[in-house]
Amino acid sequence: MAVCRGCRMGGCLLLLIIILLVTSSTLVSTAEHVRIGGLFEADNQRHVTAFRYAVDAINSDSSFLTTTHLSSQVEQISPADSFAASRKVCSLLSSGIVSIFGPKSPRSSWHVQSVCDSLEVPHVHTSSHYSDVGTDFSLYLYPHPDTLSQAYIDVINTLGWHKFSIFYENDDGLVRTQALLKNQLWQVTLRQLPASPDYRGVLKEAKEAGVTHMVLDAQNHNIYTVLKQAQQVGLMTSYHNYFITSLDLETIDLEEFRHGGTNITSLRLVSPDNPLVQQVIQDWVFGELNYGRTVDPPTTTLQSSNRSFLETEVALLYDGVQLVAKALTDLDRSHRVQVRPLQCDIDSSPWEYGTSLLNYIKLVQVEGLTGLIKLDSEGFRRDVTLDIIELTQLGLKRIGTWSSVNGTNYTKSDTEVQLGVLDNLHKNTLVITTILSEPYMMLRETTSQKPTTGNDRYEGFCVDLIKEMASILGFNYTFKLVDDGNYGAWDETQQRYSGMIGELLTQKADLAVGDLTINYKREQAVDFTQPWMSFGISILFAKPSMRESTSLFTFLRPLSCDVWVYLVVAYLGVSLVLFLLARLSPYERVPVYVMGEKSVSLGNQYTLCNSLWFTTGGLVQRATHHMPRACSTRIMAGIWWLFTLLMVSSYTANLVSFLTLDHMQPQLLIEGAEDLAHQTKIRYGTVTQGLTRNFFQSSQLATHQRMFSFMESVRPSVYVRSTSEGVQRVRKERGRYAFFMESLSIEYITQRNCDLMQIGGLLDSKSYGIALPPGSPFLRPLNDALLKIQEEGKLQMLKNKWWQEKRGGGRCHQDTDYRGQPLASQLTLDRIGGVFLLLLAGVGVALVVAVCELICKSRKQASEKQVSVWSEMSEELKNSIHSTPNTNTTTTTTRPRENNNPLEGSIPPPDPYTLTYPDKQQII
Ligand code: GLU
Repeated sequence: MAVCRGCRMGGCLLLLIIILLVTSSTLVSTAEHVRIGGLFEADNQRHVTAFRYAVDAINSDSSFLTTTHLSSQVEQISPADSFAASRKVCSLLSSGIVSIFGPKSPRSSWHVQSVCDSLEVPHVHTSSHYSDVGTDFSLYLYPHPDTLSQAYIDVINTLGWHKFSIFYENDDGLVRTQALLKNQLWQVTLRQLPASPDYRGVLKEAKEAGVTHMVLDAQNHNIYTVLKQAQQVGLMTSYHNYFITSLDLETIDLEEFRHGGTNITSLRLVSPDNPLVQQVIQDWVFGELNYGRTVDPPTTTLQSSNRSFLETEVALLYDGVQLVAKALTDLDRSHRVQVRPLQCDIDSSPWEYGTSLLNYIKLVQVEGLTGLIKLDSEGFRRDVTLDIIELTQLGLKRIGTWSSVNGTNYTKSDTEVQLGVLDNLHKNTLVITTILSEPYMMLRETTSQKPTTGNDRYEGFCVDLIKEMASILGFNYTFKLVDDGNYGAWDETQQRYSGMIGELLTQKADLAVGDLTINYKREQAVDFTQPWMSFGISILFAKPSMRESTSLFTFLRPLSCDVWVYLVVAYLGVSLVLFLLARLSPYERVPVYVMGEKSVSLGNQYTLCNSLWFTTGGLVQRATHHMPRACSTRIMAGIWWLFTLLMVSSYTANLVSFLTLDHMQPQLLIEGAEDLAHQTKIRYGTVTQGLTRNFFQSSQLATHQRMFSFMESVRPSVYVRSTSEGVQRVRKERGRYAFFMESLSIEYITQRNCDLMQIGGLLDSKSYGIALPPGSPFLRPLNDALLKIQEEGKLQMLKNKWWQEKRGGGRCHQDTDYRGQPLASQLTLDRIGGVFLLLLAGVGVALVVAVCELICKSRKQASEKQVSVWSEMSEELKNSIHSTPNTNTTTTTTRPRENNNPLEGSIPPPDPYTLTYPDKQQII
């Protein structure tokens, strides 16, 4: 397709050149006096003046038509009188004219065009109206609609718009903007402005629909009214952005809209910075050239800025005259053009030189007031360069250029943009919508009688956060409580957002602050700053508050299962070690009297059974007869007693807590959402229009879906309007109502209300953010400020202040009961493991001491017996293994009847309590 079009264009150009060569050979030198005709509406005096001025300028410029004098012949018609236009053009042509300019109105222009076509006289159009039917002798100086459409698309892309409304007045506007509707990535809505000058209805509708980005295609004389009425309905704030398709925005007084912060962008063809434009303006405004007009200079002077601007169509008239003059000059260089009167009769012949002149006009280029003027082979102006302009506090400023060749060249730097935004921020007082929720936003507690007013009425984490941000960015703000008391949810019936989100969308507020959670749907509607705190959903529930019902095995509960197991292992282990120590240590052997036997043999009181019995005695805090004698066994016994003392006292203390613990309520069985889902006795709910409810509604998990259906079906409703109402309900319906809420709030509440606790972990993970209206220019500075606060650790400081310190923070712990008393909990190994370690260390020491005892005794005996230590040691060990177990304690109670042994007399009677001999030295 593109190739074919290229071929066609190339062919046309070739044909043009051939025609030019053929016709130019027949031309003769140009007449001395050449006239161009202008047909203008009577109410368009500026065009007449410009036309005359342009002709005068040509005559005074020596580079044009050196041998010929150009003169203008103007006819005026009443607007929209197409019949008069046909008559007047015929009268102009009958006086010998080389080309016709005007008129402006499409209908009259169409008639003139058909006459010019039939008589082959070039017809120059300078208005924005392009005829649907292309004709051979029409030349259009206004940029082609396709070119302008492309410029609009490029600029809107550069501005980063994705969603906007097009406000148009008529079909022409629709044609100009229809290309914008084709972009699949944009969400575009069309709104037609009514014919009456009261546009408020359609503007109000747009405001209610939350439109913030608008393309305005209106006639120049209506633009001011549209903007003024937009301002009246509240569509001219810092959140509103306009792209105005008119190329003549500069001719409108925008003084009233400069300081509102509204972003107004447009394009212009006539650059006031162009020296040629400045020169022309000088001439017209100060009348340096006097060419017969006294009133209505073809410029619009803006009082406020004291600057003058040329209307595009006026500038194009000047440029059109230049273009025709240039074509005539080139033609004049070699040939003479004969101008003759032409008649509008049916049988009259066309002008012989019309085609040549037309072709020359299409070939030549001139630098005019609207840039380089170059027409294509169809007589259209497709190559243009436009200035991109933006309304600032100092008036309209160029922020870039657009050209059909290079596209957009945005020259405004990022710093300039940000400075503008900050300036705007300083000048505005931001309205901050908020909701009461502890500890984010609370009514100030005051002791003084004087009521607080304004922002002083509030305190909390968010109040401090905004204060910090305001001090960094230097903006003023005022808090307001959200009208409907909601966070913000989509209302299907009303087709709009409620709560804080709704207030942002209707521009009732500039920021929404509080425990406002970021989610996908809200993010689609408004802008969020980066998150300032993260959390998840959890359950708030009442702590058990009644005496626990007894159970047969409550006595086992103070110690955890593994502690019980360790205790049994310790008991067996210590008994065994005691048994071994008694064998190892020679000092543990005692003389044993066996009934009926005269001799005294050395025996060991710690048989396996006695060892077990001894440790049992220690465990239940009762003494046994078998008191240790050796150092090692005494160490062992001492450690065991210490161990049992600690264990028993810990157990006893904990048992008391367990026995006085409140009745086991159903809540003790609830450990998380799953448990709640599997019962119906305890009801549970959320905030009505909050994201916690939303979470259950949109969750794909079967459990959550079941819980949502339950919450929806239960009567009376389990939903509450606010977090504080939910907390009250949990306390009121003790043990019969659980409240799903955000964990950060639970943390705050459970630190102050000891009768409440969090149950289970987090069901999800999300964050709070500050919301702004979509496209708000303040998003970036607020984000920067938030980052700064975060980096300086101030967020954490504020968290500590409002969670732990203020308003009774830190009163309760998770493991305290409803009175703030510690909750009884099982003694687990990690809490009591040290006692076991102590026991283990004691066992080690006792073993070492037993070995030392053995060695000492063996050395002593070895030196007495004159044998080696090793043989004595092995003898000792053998003895201890084969020593008579002192099991029959009753035998030892009998005193020896006779004392044949010389030593016997000195052996004291056994201790009636321990049933052992008090001092082993006495038996040696
Ligand atoms: N923070 C929630 C929101 O922004 C409200 C509280 C809740 O749903 O638990 O919607």
